[in-house]
Amino acid sequence: MTVQSVLDKVSEVPGAGEVIRVIDPSTEEQITEFRDGGAAAVDEAVARARATFESGVWRNLPARERAQILWKVADLIDVRAPELVQLETINNGMPFVAAEGILPSCAELFRYYAGWCTKIEGTSFDIQMTAGITGTQADLHGYTLKEPLGVVGLIFPWNGPLFNACIKLAPALAAGNSCVVKPAEETPVTAFVLDQILREAGVPEGVVNLVLGYGHTAGAAISAHPDVDKVAFTGSTEVGKLIVQAASGNLKKVTLELGGKSPVLIFNDADLDTAILSAAMGIFVGSGQGCVCGSRIFVQRGAFDRVVEGISAIANGIQLGGPKDEGAHIGPLISRKQLNRVMGYVDEGRQEGVEVVTGGHRLDRKGYFVHPTVLTNVSTDARLYREEIFGPVVAVLPFDDEDEAIALANDTTYGLAGAVYTQNGARAHRLAKRIEAGTITLNCQLVFDHQMPFGGYKQSGWGREFGKDGIEMYLQTKSVYNQL
Ligand code: NAD
Repeated sequence: MTVQSVLDKVSEVPGAGEVIRVIDPSTEEQITEFRDGGAAAVDEAVARARATFESGVWRNLPARERAQILWKVADLIDVRAPELVQLETINNGMPFVAAEGILPSCAELFRYYAGWCTKIEGTSFDIQMTAGITGTQADLHGYTLKEPLGVVGLIFPWNGPLFNACIKLAPALAAGNSCVVKPAEETPVTAFVLDQILREAGVPEGVVNLVLGYGHTAGAAISAHPDVDKVAFTGSTEVGKLIVQAASGNLKKVTLELGGKSPVLIFNDADLDTAILSAAMGIFVGSGQGCVCGSRIFVQRGAFDRVVEGISAIANGIQLGGPKDEGAHIGPLISRKQLNRVMGYVDEGRQEGVEVVTGGHRLDRKGYFVHPTVLTNVSTDARLYREEIFGPVVAVLPFDDEDEAIALANDTTYGLAGAVYTQNGARAHRLAKRIEAGTITLNCQLVFDHQMPFGGYKQSGWGREFGKDGIEMYLQTKSVYNQL
């Protein structure tokens, strides 16, 4: 399909609520619009999902056939990759290279979880018991069944729209669930194409149900719906807490992939060229709109000046631009709201005496571009130090020894990721154990693999995505006792 025909089709997705305009954040121009589906669209989507779950049309399909269909989804993502790259870039604003880089991972997620369809298995037990008051000896055979949860609601944000959709849909479908899918209102476009691809690959009608709308309308309706068995959510910690409250009505299962304020520790003995480059990319990639971005960099005092200088030099060399700007490394922030939010933190910091080593301003052009920003002299009480900014803004602070570095790193309510740069192997592993976060990277950042579980400690989330843990989150265990 052409880009324009997809955008036209997005505007035809049924909804009776407010008109929501979809903006290309690199130009501030509207690319399409749609109507908020709200609670009414959610009710219909849940009813369709429930009907397909009860009919068994998907969950009772032989596992090898489910696997073949998911594998075909991956192949179709590959076939439509050029179109998906174009759509992702004009909707999210990311440069082509960024979208081209992530597309293979989207397909690979479906292949990875296609492999799990035929490996969902329980365990068995030999049981001897003394039965009741008679004291008779009984032999039993016990076994467990792994079963899908039912109707699952999948809600995710705009920072990697297609990838976020695939992270949730691939394991949810591999496990045999029926789904209600709500992408971010800012970025509905590639989720719409994925919905088409799923059907073309053979996922039966009604198993995946796309709802477009706001979070406080459609998202809230999914979270509170009495006939939804689970919500898998990626987004802010603030909204994660609202989802937990809404889910309490029917005690639906909840998994949460939330925000972060990830620490990066750079020691004097690190390979500083590598550390500087990785730490700079670890915050500025995606304009800082990544949950694992290392937004607090702690540097041992002997290397402090060199690291600040090095990261600032990289920040100044980064080419900002939209998909149409040749050679752009990173794109804009997603929206005017996000731009105002990020600049609000920086302006507040300035008033509090923070030193802006570089950046701290938006670009003088159309689009929500903020210059990569390096801050020093930051108080650990400052809001910009404690709260997730989700923009290209990093605070760099000095430390003297390991204990001080760990105290600083763990002094946060978040616990998504952490990085350590040192050539002392024992120290690296010692600190990997001491940092309170779900993913630790040693002498690198921005690495990930489908096999490795990902998720948050503390207020960065509940549960894990990716790997075996990822599919377990969409299954429940039944224990069966059989008297022999
Ligand atoms: P957000 O929480 O505002 O929105 C995320 C999604 O939730 C959107 O689809 C939105 O429509 C929906 N939503 C909003 N209010 C809702 C409500 N009351 N009920 C149900 N759904 C609702 O997040 P955002 O600002 O759009 O995205 C950025 C956040 O996402 C950051 O905090 C970032 O760290 C986090 N994030 C986390 C991960 C991770 O894996 N841990 C990955 C990417 C982004």
